[in-house]
Amino acid sequence: MSLIVQKFGGTSVADVEKIRAAARNAIRAQQAGHRVVMVVSAMGKNTDGLLDLAGQISENPPAREMDMLLSTGEQVSVALVAMAIHDLGSKAISLTGGQIGMKTDNSFSKARIQSISTERIERLLEGGNIVVAAGFQGIDDDLNITTLGRGGSDTTAVALAAVLGADACEIYTDVDGVYTTDPRLLPEARRVEVISYDEMLELASLGAGVMHNRSIEFAKKFGVPIHVRSSFSDTEGTMIVAEPESRSQPVSGAAMTANEARITVLGVPDVPGKIRKIFSAIGSRKIAVDMVVQNIGKEGRADISFTVPRSELRSTLEAVESVIDEVGAKGVTHDDEVSKVSVVGLNMASQTNVAAKMFRALAEAGVNIQMITTSEIKISTLVKKSDASSALRAVHRAFTLHSKPADAKNWGQIKAERDSGTDVDALVSRLRDDALEALTLTGISVTENQARITIHGVPDTAGIAADMFETIGEAEIFIDMIVQGYDGQGKTTSVSFTVDASEIESAVGVADSILAKHSMGEVQSCGEIAKVTVSGIGLRSHTHVATRLFEQLAGAEINVEMINTSELQVNAVIQSKHLEVATERLKEAFSDALR
Ligand code: ADP
Ligand code: ASP
Ligand code: MG
Repeated sequence: MSLIVQKFGGTSVADVEKIRAAARNAIRAQQAGHRVVMVVSAMGKNTDGLLDLAGQISENPPAREMDMLLSTGEQVSVALVAMAIHDLGSKAISLTGGQIGMKTDNSFSKARIQSISTERIERLLEGGNIVVAAGFQGIDDDLNITTLGRGGSDTTAVALAAVLGADACEIYTDVDGVYTTDPRLLPEARRVEVISYDEMLELASLGAGVMHNRSIEFAKKFGVPIHVRSSFSDTEGTMIVAEPESRSQPVSGAAMTANEARITVLGVPDVPGKIRKIFSAIGSRKIAVDMVVQNIGKEGRADISFTVPRSELRSTLEAVESVIDEVGAKGVTHDDEVSKVSVVGLNMASQTNVAAKMFRALAEAGVNIQMITTSEIKISTLVKKSDASSALRAVHRAFTLHSKPADAKNWGQIKAERDSGTDVDALVSRLRDDALEALTLTGISVTENQARITIHGVPDTAGIAADMFETIGEAEIFIDMIVQGYDGQGKTTSVSFTVDASEIESAVGVADSILAKHSMGEVQSCGEIAKVTVSGIGLRSHTHVATRLFEQLAGAEINVEMINTSELQVNAVIQSKHLEVATERLKEAFSDALR
């Protein structure tokens, strides 16, 4: 008998009528012959209300007590949903995270799932019950209640679907699917019929709040198809599966994190090991750092900038300040009025001028880009908070995300291709079931024969990045990584990019011409560099990946010249001569996670 996991988010159980509707939905599925597990979130804005209450009691409440408090929201709703099912004449049992054996680690407010015991759920299902499980919560080894992080009920649902071997995981929410960007922010956003795990993971991690990013890690690892759909209508929603909607369009979605913070550590002595100390201090607090840019500075010192969610600013500053003397840096600055606007697409890696197009769109909207980082499937820009909405609109329009790509496929077509033998990669057989959310790496690889070009003294005004990368694109030079830093003073920035070593002369030539046009500082190039890539799933949210990479390279006195991260890869640019040692060390350091 098939098994369905149905997850209902806060708005879908916000009042008595909606709770009854959710109950009816589950009963209908049961009557259609399925075994049904429901995962339910706290009613409406209940979690926000509890957070606010805690804030009135204490400015800095103990993390353990916070989780104890927040978990009550889900306990209320599972009980009410189970009552509603009884009232409608069917059998249901509600269970807390502890009662479904949802074991997590002890990082309160961002706990990771270790294992789930399925016996009790299976027994109850055998007995004809609809099992109503509380989302978002678990217990640690000492039976403390933990929570998985805001939006974490999605992760509970997909994790349950994975361990129970469910045939489907339906996410009922207040939108009728996944859109090319948040439809509340941009009404012209288009609902997509299909999106790939990789794109959804990256979009979720970059701000698309429709799915909790870690739920997509589960889905990808275990090959769980997810159907995101409206709890208020019967229309089909969006399937999140291994395959993308289109094999040609460079960008499939745009996302924004409105509340970011930028931190710059000034004058860090440019020797291996210093950056590692800073990121170890931050990483030990499990704060996910993004957009790391190091400005190769003057007099053997560098400025290092990175972004964190604004809610983590205080904790990040504490971490940085605790090591700043030891590191010998000159100071720390920050800006909490910034937003991150990103575009994501599986096909961008093989196409030229995607970055230039994004930068041009921002320039035409009058938006100045403060920082840039790219990776194989995304381009992120940091902009002033007040520019964020127009920036999002501009890039959405530039990549014509409102219209369906000509080669778009729907779920029916993709399923037919699967049936005709196309492989779908689930990593399930290779995972340990006692460490469900453990870091999963798929490989460590190298790209040799690269060159780095850095342009210093780039004026910090709108349009420069667009001009620069359009000119490079016209010269038909293929660019891999781009980073644009922040110089602490905010007057000029430096931009670095990598190209194939065979392109170094033409790239320098183009850089020189751009320099002359805009009267910038100077061009610096380095022809003997290489890229080491750590590939896997959930690399940004597993905060220790970048830290461990820095640790290993610093331990061998290897300087990381550029770094970028996505959920799928962490890339570090180093001098070619260090390549062999670097790869050996990384393989050894990550051997526990390599599958
Ligand atoms: P739930 O309570 O059901 O988990 P959420 O509020 O967490 O619901 O997620 C649904 C919301 O996600 C939508 O109302 C929408 O505003 C927002 N959202 C952000 N990005 C997207 C996107 N790309 N597609 C659809 N919705 C999005
Ligand atoms: N109730 C929790 C929250 O609001 C979990 C969830 O809804 O997914 O973040
Ligand atoms: Mg949600």
